[in-house]
Amino acid sequence: MHTQIKKVVVVGGGTAGWISAALLKKLLGSPIDIELVESESIGTVGVGEATIPPIRLLNSVLGLNESEFLAKTKGTIKLGIQFENWRVEGESYFHSFGAAGKSMAFCHFHHFWQRAQSLGLNTSLWDYDLNYLAAKAGKFAQINSKDPIIELPYAYHFDAGLYAKYLREASERMGVTRTEGLIKHVEQDNDSGFIRSVVLQDGRKITGDLFIDCSGFRGLLIQQQLGAGFDDWSHWLPCDRAIAVPSQRHATTLPYTRSIAHAGGWQWRIPLQHRNGNGVVYSSQHYSQQQALDLLLKNLDSEVLGEPNFIKFQTGRRRQQWSRNVIAVGLSSGFLEPLESTSIHLIQSAIVRLLHLFPHQGVKAVDVAEYNRQSKIEYEQIRDFIILHYHVNERNDSHFWRDLRHMAVPDSLRHKIELFRATGRLFREQNDLFLESSWLQVMLGQGIIPQDYHPIANNLSQDKLFAMLNTIRAVKNEPLAKLPSHDDFLRSFCTKPN
Ligand SMILES: Cc1cc2nc3c(=O)[nH]c(=O)nc-3n(C[C@H](O)[C@H](O)[C@H](O)COP(=O)(O)OP(=O)(O)OC[C@H]3O[C@@H](n4cnc5c(N)ncnc54)[C@H](O)[C@@H]3O)c2cc1C
Repeated sequence: MHTQIKKVVVVGGGTAGWISAALLKKLLGSPIDIELVESESIGTVGVGEATIPPIRLLNSVLGLNESEFLAKTKGTIKLGIQFENWRVEGESYFHSFGAAGKSMAFCHFHHFWQRAQSLGLNTSLWDYDLNYLAAKAGKFAQINSKDPIIELPYAYHFDAGLYAKYLREASERMGVTRTEGLIKHVEQDNDSGFIRSVVLQDGRKITGDLFIDCSGFRGLLIQQQLGAGFDDWSHWLPCDRAIAVPSQRHATTLPYTRSIAHAGGWQWRIPLQHRNGNGVVYSSQHYSQQQALDLLLKNLDSEVLGEPNFIKFQTGRRRQQWSRNVIAVGLSSGFLEPLESTSIHLIQSAIVRLLHLFPHQGVKAVDVAEYNRQSKIEYEQIRDFIILHYHVNERNDSHFWRDLRHMAVPDSLRHKIELFRATGRLFREQNDLFLESSWLQVMLGQGIIPQDYHPIANNLSQDKLFAMLNTIRAVKNEPLAKLPSHDDFLRSFCTKPN
């Protein structure tokens, strides 16, 4: 279809809608009109408060000032996630955004650490990770060290509603038009099947050349209108319900998310400046709504601040995320799990992918096919990483964990686990969002002990190996004393003039 793209219509004003509108406007500029339609009567999903480090690039491309952003969204710093009770009850491990040790030529640091373990050095991999050390000490500052071994990669926790509002202000300043109204009909071209317009309840008609479907789980255009299909992954990721509730903040603000497993799922705790975000994620086959709500409320350790928000979802992905002239972004494109906070990132990467393949001279089948190929790979890689947390467990307290342990996982994941178990080796697949350091932490944390390490690690005497590890550990610990507490950082940073 060779219609020049002059106008893009974004359907939906949740996090997906406003990120899409802001990023497209920022990068495409005035030649392309962008109109966003949203309905206050429907509202947004109201969750999505934890992020991963690439969001900093998004904010920076959008020109958002970091201290203003943190102040306006009541944001805090996230250095990683603490997984509690995941392998067995009573144990925890950390998935930090940093990496343990330092990069070594041809052989990952953990092989050296593994050899040292076999020689009797009793340290944890996380002793060599500044992100973990700072997180546990409740400290943070932006580090601009010339030494690549000293880095503190971070992301944010924020209030999802305030973030969408903040992005709306930024988008409108850039020239995005916002229309309030409930879409009642969708008009398609008879020949091509392309969407021509959406018609609001009051009869107003919004036409466009390209449509970004950010309408949430309902997939108003991509599914209800175009029937793009859905790959259901609930046999691998059976959690299908969540209940979210805010609670009073704690005196000390942790710079990390807590993910606490329970018999039928898990619970998140996200520290913000003005409150904690909490939620329980569970499988409705294994838990009733009342059981999940009771569990959530019982495990809160501060006063409840609002009514619970009950959410149903299905894990999986939209089979064609780009169909005709509609691109599904956000929850309309699929949903994996909140477990590793990947959804907001998937919004960002979908728009970046669209920009790389932007059909300015009209939608071409090859661009659509390439977009769908790349997004399928991206979703599948993240899917595997999330399944890993559930599948490799030693819990015996419920059918939920036993069923997940015994299920057949995707071949791609099975191979990765077998390779690591036998050799300690890990390889990043193409553009996998998660680096080797992420896979390593979760593999070890969930209890996979590699049976071997790389022979390059044998090329040092025991004394030299221990000395090297001691030096790295000391270097990683050295900045800690100078770091302010996370709360002191927020207090001074958020009041900085812009
Ligand atoms: C339990 C849970 C926890 C999560 N936690 C995280 C997390 O920690 N980190 C993370 O990255 N992600 C998380 N996510 C995902 C995150 O919440 C979403 O990716 C994000 O909020 C984007 O949602 P959305 O904008 O696609 O949909 P929504 O927020 O549902 O927005 C849909 C929009 O479409 C509009 N709309 C729908 N129908 C119509 C209509 N007929 N007419 C007009 N407008 C319409 C609505 O008004 C609304 O503006 C979580 C999700 C769930 C379910």
